[in-house]
Amino acid sequence: MNDLELKFYDSKKGCKTVFQPSDPGRVKLYSCGPTVYNHSHIGNIRSYLFVDVLRRSLKLFGYVPDQTMNITDIDDKIIRESIANKVSIEEFTQPWTEKFFKDLNTLNIEKVEHYPKATESIDEMIHMIQKLQENGLVYEKDGNLYYSVEKFSDYGQLSKVDTSGMISGARYDADEYEKDNVRDFVLWKAPKEPGEKFWETAIGKGRPGWHLECSAMIRSIYSSGVDIHTGGIDLLFPHHENEIAQTRGAYPEEEFVRYWLHCEHLLVDGAKMSKSKGNFYILDDIIAQGYNWKEVRFVMLSFHYRTKLNFSFERLREARISIERIQNSLNRLIESIKKDIPEYDFSVYCSLTKEENQESVIKKITNLQPSTIAKAFYHDFMEGLSDDLNTPKALASVFESIKSINSLIDKEELKTSEKEDILYFFFQLNCLLGLLDFETILDSASVSEDDAKIVSLIEERKSAKKDKDFARADAIRDELKALGIIVEDTKDGSVKWKRIQ
Ligand code: AMP
Ligand code: ZN
Repeated sequence: MNDLELKFYDSKKGCKTVFQPSDPGRVKLYSCGPTVYNHSHIGNIRSYLFVDVLRRSLKLFGYVPDQTMNITDIDDKIIRESIANKVSIEEFTQPWTEKFFKDLNTLNIEKVEHYPKATESIDEMIHMIQKLQENGLVYEKDGNLYYSVEKFSDYGQLSKVDTSGMISGARYDADEYEKDNVRDFVLWKAPKEPGEKFWETAIGKGRPGWHLECSAMIRSIYSSGVDIHTGGIDLLFPHHENEIAQTRGAYPEEEFVRYWLHCEHLLVDGAKMSKSKGNFYILDDIIAQGYNWKEVRFVMLSFHYRTKLNFSFERLREARISIERIQNSLNRLIESIKKDIPEYDFSVYCSLTKEENQESVIKKITNLQPSTIAKAFYHDFMEGLSDDLNTPKALASVFESIKSINSLIDKEELKTSEKEDILYFFFQLNCLLGLLDFETILDSASVSEDDAKIVSLIEERKSAKKDKDFARADAIRDELKALGIIVEDTKDGSVKWKRIQ
């Protein structure tokens, strides 16, 4: 079992705190996603990679994520651009939405369970506005509906903005505004420009303000709040403060978010990378310059999500060297197992790189005896992650482990069974890194559909034997035989197996 406690820095509490989900079997996770009107720049990508690290880490700690990332497919910018391009907002946003998913795929960012679109969540948003109206928090001006911030006494609890200088009834229609200017924000906007997209609804003609979608989606997907809500630090105010005001204003009795996590910005030459400043890089440009996605992924992982990251091409070059060091150590380990047992069948491992088999890797490595060397590497790595997803700390431990692994291989001081355990450490490491190459070195030609099952049966048989449940161990041996696998216990404790010819 894992004896480490996972801690997060909660932006609301302003300190690190031990993570305890409301239901350990299903961690509810919501992340503010892209506004699909242009390419994602690598600043946006940093925040998506942060979400990926969070998701993968939760799994490493034994949790099952149930995760949402919203797609904002209507806002001021989208309306402006679609009118300028003389296309509907659907036609305008569709290619950008596809591009967003393509970038995620390129970077090996895991798919999450839900990707709701704002334009497909209008009913939930109307319902929330109606609830807010019932609770006396909404007023109308020029056909727009506004949230009356002064009527929500908890306003400012997340961002700690000072509401004392707030001018009663001062409003803002735009989606974004500054912290020193607390205003009533728009929930529903009446159409102004000809050709502007609107919905004909029970609360009038119009379209939602930007802040509303996240509150409404969380409500409709999870019914009563989430464990973790994430976003870039720029979303903390006003967006997340307004999300709280909306949900808690509509449903005061419900807990909305238990832990708020915010990712710091990616900078270029010390300034925030943003489309409005024009100082941005997109993934395609970087790849066109001869760098690859693994380097981008590694650079992001090598910085803690709460520190600013000043982007440079030099960092990508450094990442290439770091990735090579890890990969070379893995290759050497595999070579040395082949040297011990020339007929060793690696094919069973191939399926372990698949997302659906991460669980069996994690189970295997967490169940290793504390005295084993691989378990020590695993522990150091997990310790870094447990400390508010401190990926640089976790990676520093990986480089220390690699030094030991290389030196132990050089000195021929490892038993084959120890090497097998360390191989699992690499698989587990890759559950987070998502960039190591196993396929080419493990000869994927002979992978079968049954491989995952075989691994788990072999593991189960080992634990049965450890528990002295020999009847169960023998039954598993027979089950394996029926699958065409013969197992053989070696003196050093490892299990050899081969397919019946
Ligand atoms: P947007 O598409 O503008 O709605 O942004 C999508 C996500 O990217 C949000 O979580 C933002 O907070 C985040 N983001 C925007 N700019 C940066 C940046 N320079 N560095 C890190 N995250 C960013
Ligand atoms: Zn949001």
